[in-house]
Amino acid sequence: MITVTINGREIRTEPGKTVIEVALENGIYIPHFCWHPALSVSGNCRMCLVEVEKLPKQVIACSTYCTDGMVVHVDSEKAVQAREAVMEFILINHPLDCPICDEAGDCKLQEYAYRFSRGESRFDEEKNHKRKRVELGPHVVFDGERCISCSRCIRFCSEIIKDPQLTFVERGDRVTIETFPGETLDNPYSMNVIDLCPVGALTSKEFRFKARVWDMSQTGTICPGCARGCNIVAWARKNEILRLTPRENPHVNQYWMCDRGRLESFQHVHADERLDGAMLRKNGSLEKDSWDTVYSTAAKELMKFKGSEVAFIGSAWATIEDNFLLVKFARDILSSTLIDFLPHTIEGDEDDFLIRADKTPNTSGALLVGAGSPGHEAKERIVDGIARGQVKALVVMDDDVAADPSFAAVLDKLEFLLVIASNTTATVGSAHVVFSSATWFEKLGAVVTFDRHLQLLRPAVVTAGNKRWMGGIGQSRLDRFGTTYDRWGQYIEHDARPSWQILTGIAQSIGAKWAYTHPEDVFEAAAAEVKELNGITYEKIGRRGVRLDQPVDEPAFIYDDIHP
Ligand code: SF4
Ligand code: SF4
Repeated sequence: MITVTINGREIRTEPGKTVIEVALENGIYIPHFCWHPALSVSGNCRMCLVEVEKLPKQVIACSTYCTDGMVVHVDSEKAVQAREAVMEFILINHPLDCPICDEAGDCKLQEYAYRFSRGESRFDEEKNHKRKRVELGPHVVFDGERCISCSRCIRFCSEIIKDPQLTFVERGDRVTIETFPGETLDNPYSMNVIDLCPVGALTSKEFRFKARVWDMSQTGTICPGCARGCNIVAWARKNEILRLTPRENPHVNQYWMCDRGRLESFQHVHADERLDGAMLRKNGSLEKDSWDTVYSTAAKELMKFKGSEVAFIGSAWATIEDNFLLVKFARDILSSTLIDFLPHTIEGDEDDFLIRADKTPNTSGALLVGAGSPGHEAKERIVDGIARGQVKALVVMDDDVAADPSFAAVLDKLEFLLVIASNTTATVGSAHVVFSSATWFEKLGAVVTFDRHLQLLRPAVVTAGNKRWMGGIGQSRLDRFGTTYDRWGQYIEHDARPSWQILTGIAQSIGAKWAYTHPEDVFEAAAAEVKELNGITYEKIGRRGVRLDQPVDEPAFIYDDIHP
């Protein structure tokens, strides 16, 4: 161990770390544009200049290694002046685009202009003009005038994706970013450069000019796009999700997410096909009725079937809480052991970085609570039972069984089909009773990644149903998980409830003494019953989750300063 002194604080640290690493790890902020913990050190922005005693000039903290006895001043007059000079230099040619720039309010340069610059410009000359609105690829638009040549985007492509699609061209103040001849910025992770870009030089084609960042709520949740379970932030305005960005988690996705997850995984939340409320089939078509009426009709119908006459299909797109209650409903109320969920794997559609072939986010969690069977053999038995007339009733939760040809061929043999679904599907088209369920982005619950990392998803938008159990505006039990959903309560569009709540409603109509009023109540029951979950609480899962098999070391320092 060595001892360094930064801003008068003596710090013991291992040798081999740079000044910026040791400072940030110990809560001492050194401004920086080009440095990023996941990328190589390029040292080209010069923003992290600090004063080191016995050295003749200021040095950049990102490439200066700590040595025993080193004394560093981050906020001395010389260091402050040096950073002001760097800011003045960077701002000389930076356009005054802030009023129309997507990055405004979320921009490192804008923030540093307030915190670390002289606050005025001495530059009267015409600014340098460069190309604007350049489409680098299908999702990323480049503005040459805003670029501060930090090279983060270039290093991301060559070092993380190992596909060097971007490079600098020209020299001096004409330097700019370009794709290699004949190439576009087109890879499954291309949009991460937008998050990495410390200014508004790289923006998202899909999100450009949609909203100002200060108008959006931010909810830390989990991507439902595949079994990786990338940690994300869902940005919403007026109860509508407008974009997803990655949230750092060293155990799951580091700082990144894939473009498909980012763009596609929330589209169904605001789709025209969203279902609304509880429905009964009358004269061949589904008609909306009160939740209580539909709960009691469903209860009455289901009670006609017992044991092997009734089967259940859970979902790897649903939470542990949803699947746990489905298993409990089947087992304790209708004495049925016929339960399974459908796999959704696209063989070959995976890589050795993040993307998984299993396109569901909670296969491990559904298996953990007993909603699946080895090799999905129960699913075959259910299909077979329906075909032979033994299985007469089916409850389907958050999946479209009719999309599976084996189910599609037998569904019309059922005497009773109850469907819990968020959007219209072919299965809904055959159902006798339908309950509208909350989507992934409208519920709180636990899920498990393919490598058994247990995480919490949080509601980013509000439905009439989840508002009920979330509690009153601003006083929800969710507040401690950092959800900001309640800003948009007045814009509720959908009368949907989380699946665990729907199952509880039906169970109570049957007469079961289920008293679950919050997903945390359900998780507590699951944790008491399922060995792997024993002793785990929402509080313990926290923001970065817990590994089920063996504890993982939480790093001493987590860099959550991706942007800004
Ligand atoms: S486009 Fe952004 S990330 Fe790339 S070099 Fe310019 S400022 Fe840096
Ligand atoms: S890798 Fe999977 S979990 Fe991660 S962003 Fe992509 S689809 Fe979502």
